[in-house]
Amino acid sequence: MNEQKGHVIVLPYPAQGHINPMLQFAKRLISKGVKATLATTPYTIKYIDASSVHVEPISDGYDEGGFKFAPSVEAYLESFKSVGSRTLSELILKFRESPCPANCIVYDSLFPWALDVAQKFGIYKAVFLTNSASVCSIYWHIKLGRLNLPLDKEMFPISLPGLPPLHSSDLPSFIARPADHSAYLAAIMEKFEILEHNDWVLCNTFQELESELVKAMDGQWPLLTMGPMIPSAYLDQPTEGDTAYGASFWKPSRDKYLRWLETKAPGSVVFVSFGSMGSTTAKQAEEIARGLKASKKHFLWVLKESESEEKLAREFLSRLGDDGLMVAWCNQVEVLAHKAVGCFVTHCGWNSVLEALSIGVPMVAVPQWSDQPMNAKFIQEWEVGVRAERDSQGILLGKELEKCIREVMDGRKSEDIRKNSFNWSQTAARATGVEGSSDKNISNFINRLMAKNI
Ligand code: UDP
Repeated sequence: MNEQKGHVIVLPYPAQGHINPMLQFAKRLISKGVKATLATTPYTIKYIDASSVHVEPISDGYDEGGFKFAPSVEAYLESFKSVGSRTLSELILKFRESPCPANCIVYDSLFPWALDVAQKFGIYKAVFLTNSASVCSIYWHIKLGRLNLPLDKEMFPISLPGLPPLHSSDLPSFIARPADHSAYLAAIMEKFEILEHNDWVLCNTFQELESELVKAMDGQWPLLTMGPMIPSAYLDQPTEGDTAYGASFWKPSRDKYLRWLETKAPGSVVFVSFGSMGSTTAKQAEEIARGLKASKKHFLWVLKESESEEKLAREFLSRLGDDGLMVAWCNQVEVLAHKAVGCFVTHCGWNSVLEALSIGVPMVAVPQWSDQPMNAKFIQEWEVGVRAERDSQGILLGKELEKCIREVMDGRKSEDIRKNSFNWSQTAARATGVEGSSDKNISNFINRLMAKNI
């Protein structure tokens, strides 16, 4: 006897920036009465708070530690495809024997093979896009042959439906410089080959944020905007205690930074974090430290680097006294939501951008690669921050960082930037609140899921 009709297996790529929004999505489903299981690799499970979601292992073929044990990106994705397909199938079969069989797979877009698994078992399939809809639409135009790589200099600025005019520096690095990133580009293009075969294309964004684009893509994909997928406490939602994603590959030194933040005046601290994947060279760390010092602001800086890099920046900091604090990891949403934080210097990962936007923190955009340049473009378009320029060697110089921090915190436009940031936080809360655009889309998703008997 089936007690519950809906049971969704959520399958994220095992990286922080992918697990966070997909785990949050699983939690959102659970809060609405749907059973959700997070399926992830055995070495990832220990980093997930099992009280928030039911977790089951599936294998990528590298159970001892994943990607870092694989010889290349291609080899890793290939192994995940073969071993992952088999172990995901076994999981679905196991659930078939339970009172609540799985009737839908929500899979990370880096795993297009999960679509075949869902089709084999005749269950619903939904791809989860962890990038903005705008970024995804560009890949879609490439797939349709409307944009051919490599792009010709003459073509700029590029004009595409629902997007502002784009220069080369605004484009995802995989598109601006395809030869440098062929393995990633191939993996991304593979998912766009099959996008329209899904029952849903779930995108971690909200309709109001990318309204022109959503209109332009209408009817092309079964697109469902359902974000921002951030812990509900920061969206004025009633779900009690949802203040963290519930997954963390690194341990935050929470007491230390919260105690320090408590001693700072509202809006006075610059928070610097470049995400979970990036690395900061010694030279770059020194320039950042220089810029922060020159800005004369308090700062909290996440630097999860090798010992020597960290040592260098720490030495620099030891001369700065109480002005700054460095940590190797923090609960970023909690820090962004702290009243002392007035500016976020970010690498523009999509989760980081959505978090700052939803919490209402102005940004200094320092994009590095992948989709980040395009996210930086939108930070400018939404007028919630400024973009810092790098020098000819790709280094963000201290004086540029200082200038941008001043512009965001004290400059002529700072008041407008703060106002816009606040307004976007309100719009994000409305989108995810009862009967908001994202909330309605999630309800429609659930209604369809529950209607079908397994
Ligand atoms: N994050 C965090 N603590 C840190 C740095 C990052 O909790 O000290 C989280 C952040 O909140 C975000 C994720 O890690 O949800 C990073 O994702 P994003 O897309 O911003 O960047 P990526 O790491 O994928 O480049």
